Amino acid sequence: MTRDVVVLGSGAAGLTAALAAAQAGADVGLYEKSDVLGGSSAISGGVPWMPLNHHQDEAGVSDTREEALAYLASLSLDRMDPAMAEAFVDHARETVQWLESTTEARFTLLPHYPDYHPENPGGKPDGGRSLDPGLFSYARLGPWQDKVARSKRSAHLKITDTTLGGGTGYLSEEELQRRVDADLRGCGNALVGPIIKALLDLGVEPVLNARATDLVLSDGRVTGVRFDVDGREQVVGARHGVVLATGGFEWDPELVAAFLRGPMTAPTSMPTNTGDGLRMAMRVGAQLGNMGQAWWVPAVKIPGDTAFGQQRSNLVNRERTLPGSIMVNRAGRRFTNEATNYNALGGAFHQLDPVTFTYANLPAWLVFDHAHAAKYGTFGAPAGTAVPEWVATAPTVGDLAAQVGIDPAGLEATITRWNAFVDQESDEDFRRGDSAYDRWSGDGDHRFLKASTLGRIDSGPFYAVQVESGSLGTSGGPRTDTSGRVLDTHAEPIPGLYAAGNVAAAPTAMAYGGAGGTLGPILVFGRLTGLAAATDLQSV
Ligand SMILES: Cc1cc2nc3c(=O)[nH]c(=O)nc-3n(C[C@H](O)[C@H](O)[C@H](O)COP(=O)(O)OP(=O)(O)OC[C@H]3O[C@@H](n4cnc5c(N)ncnc54)[C@H](O)[C@@H]3O)c2cc1C
Repeated sequence: MTRDVVVLGSGAAGLTAALAAAQAGADVGLYEKSDVLGGSSAISGGVPWMPLNHHQDEAGVSDTREEALAYLASLSLDRMDPAMAEAFVDHARETVQWLESTTEARFTLLPHYPDYHPENPGGKPDGGRSLDPGLFSYARLGPWQDKVARSKRSAHLKITDTTLGGGTGYLSEEELQRRVDADLRGCGNALVGPIIKALLDLGVEPVLNARATDLVLSDGRVTGVRFDVDGREQVVGARHGVVLATGGFEWDPELVAAFLRGPMTAPTSMPTNTGDGLRMAMRVGAQLGNMGQAWWVPAVKIPGDTAFGQQRSNLVNRERTLPGSIMVNRAGRRFTNEATNYNALGGAFHQLDPVTFTYANLPAWLVFDHAHAAKYGTFGAPAGTAVPEWVATAPTVGDLAAQVGIDPAGLEATITRWNAFVDQESDEDFRRGDSAYDRWSGDGDHRFLKASTLGRIDSGPFYAVQVESGSLGTSGGPRTDTSGRVLDTHAEPIPGLYAAGNVAAAPTAMAYGGAGGTLGPILVFGRLTGLAAATDLQSV
């Protein structure tokens, strides 16, 4: 079989590339390794970060190209390719409009959700760039209704219902029933559902359980793909181009060890993201970029908790931001502003102690007291219920430290110091609570106040949970130009080969602007890549 465009992977990158190519008139084949569609995108928060989006106009948010670019540059340590960042900012608005005009996707602003570094130049303390995909009825997908990856816990929640989006994490029984009856799903499912629907309407039938294993080359041009379909090899030809959209390599320990800049032991994404696209691109001579980086996140593994057949790693966002908790290393010392954004925290986990030649802040522990657990709940155990048995518990701080292997005197001194900072409403060590972002993500009863994140740790029993260095997905891979064409080691496009999403070097490099900092660029470049592949001038 031969198609015009062959797209590998059905996350946000693959879906948008496939849709743009199909709308441009290409005969598109969409192939997915898993037995469900959507990849990590489907189980994500589904929030894209889109500077200058048109919903800002209605809400009176002011944003400019210069602000957005200055802001991204301030987070990039000079690692970002300005041309890629400019293409992202310049096409963000039209990408949102395109999704809303050609699919059933409908976005609204995530109200007041600050950028992740809102005090940096061009940052937005009152939000406006992060979008909520709302709810989408999966009944609209007909026979594909149950063939999309979903989170067992939160499929029916909108991002604004989740604690991440400023909600409580719970729905009234009546509202939950309404959503279950109509199979209304939010977050990542609401992002990918409308695109899948649009593809089905255009006659693009995705192929599941199709693992791409290699690219076919003819005279230096990529002309097809080898697949393993249920153990049988199949070859599909590509007249115009092949789009790699196979996600990151976070689930492949060998590639993780070879490339990432520090430990990453807790991938939170789809386990099928094992770097297949990266290996295919390397074999045909792609130039690589951003390889040490991932979209970092602190994560906790709950014994016996699985997702997609693997140990689940839970994102630790709210627990480390709410009052009455801190994070410490084995010396019992705090090492960062716990309330800062998850991606930036990766740097704190990778700090090397040059004397002992160990990672200074791994392992790390979240330490909290009983008042915190009683008011906010603990890793899925709702407020007012017992703290789960897997959580280390002790009557005193010293006993807790000894139990989990933290220096007891260090932890006691740290908590005394922390409580003094809380009393004076100023964290002199790490400025927790100074940023609008820290205050937004904490206790909603004190929103916009430092008390939303600063709280004493003084009511026993005391608790500790080990926190690992995790990731939402890796962000390095083949470098591309602004049309998604994969570049070779001499910076020339490899004819017929395209890449978008986490399989490729991220267009914003290490910069994670705000909620949606990965999906925003992915939607923009997924579309640009699909368009370029459909109209590949070097074909025929
Ligand atoms: C819990 C969670 C919440 C998140 N929330 C957000 C958020 O709100 N906003 C945000 O910006 N980012 C968020 N992220 C990150 C975001 O989900 C990812 O960056 C994004 O989904 C990556 O999209 P992608 O299309 O590149 O890859 P994916 O969505 O992971 O899709 C890759 C697909 O390729 C398939 N594949 C792999 N190998 C092959 C092969 N050989 N052949 C065929 N198919 C293959 C995989 O099975 C997978 O379906 C979150 C991530 C997680 C885990």
